[in-house]
Amino acid sequence: MSTISIQHLTKIYGRSAAVDDVCIEIPKGSVFGLLGPNGAGKTTTFKCILGLARPSSGTTLIDGAPLVPAVFERLAYVPERSVLYEWMTAGEHMEAQRRSFKRYDPARATELFALFNLDARKRVRAMSKGMQTALAIVLAFASRPEILVLDEPTSGLDPVNQRAVLKLIIDAAAQGATVVLSSHQIGQVERAAEHIAILQDGKVVLNGAVDDLKYQRKIVEGIFESDAFSVNGFERDARISRVEKTGRILRLTVSDGSDGLAAGLVSQGAQSVRIVDLNLEDIFLNAVAPSQSTADVVEAS
Ligand code: ATP
Repeated sequence: MSTISIQHLTKIYGRSAAVDDVCIEIPKGSVFGLLGPNGAGKTTTFKCILGLARPSSGTTLIDGAPLVPAVFERLAYVPERSVLYEWMTAGEHMEAQRRSFKRYDPARATELFALFNLDARKRVRAMSKGMQTALAIVLAFASRPEILVLDEPTSGLDPVNQRAVLKLIIDAAAQGATVVLSSHQIGQVERAAEHIAILQDGKVVLNGAVDDLKYQRKIVEGIFESDAFSVNGFERDARISRVEKTGRILRLTVSDGSDGLAAGLVSQGAQSVRIVDLNLEDIFLNAVAPSQSTADVVEAS
């Protein structure tokens, strides 16, 4: 059973849909990455999961049931914008957390404070942006939550602390927690997440296991004898999302069937062919802005 199930979720603000008929299943004990350009609907989706925004239609379920207050005991949310109190110290935030959450673990909190070099006596207003993010992360993880909803959890962190947060996320999932995060750092999502969904204009444009998405999607590159080559049949092939021609090189971005398409290029005169893996950033750009993901692109129909 999925820990978080989002079924036909729509959220309308004014006249436009911030989230538009989104269906996502987030499996228990795994890391799920929600990706998308600015304004795609990631934060709104999180708010609907957490009951902070009321869906216009559709449902969100946690462990198969609508959200109830008891779930907040085992859930941690790190919002995109800081909800820390400027006048309170880091230590006072920890104390408030201890009083509010039965599962709060002081030993774990001390360990995490040291991990991020936080000073318990420092007031939030005197902390850098990165320190504030680190404090929010510490507050979230110190209660050993079973469900973590993290909206851009590495924002403002230096590379060492970003790595530390990724490790916390991966370790939490390995111990059975369900983690859903959004991030514009696609390389980080690629390292941490087993599944992703890409939102654009409120709609899911791609959804799946990272390994499957990468396994199917490839660039098939053929080198011809001269730049006067011509090939047939690729324009109408639904598996090809992009056809790019640069001098003697023809590059096809394909969603499936790379071996067959490589053989097709050879039979049409390519001297050499190679199949190149795409990383998650390539897949993301191809999904949300196909015409901008590389230069000199001829769009496939
Ligand atoms: P970002 O990556 O920039 O954080 P996002 O994917 O999290 O973006 P959302 O914050 O969910 O995007 O916003 C989705 C759309 O909904 C945007 O067009 C935004 O302007 C709109 N929106 C969000 N909250 C509200 C609100 N309270 N009232 C009106 N419109 C809103």
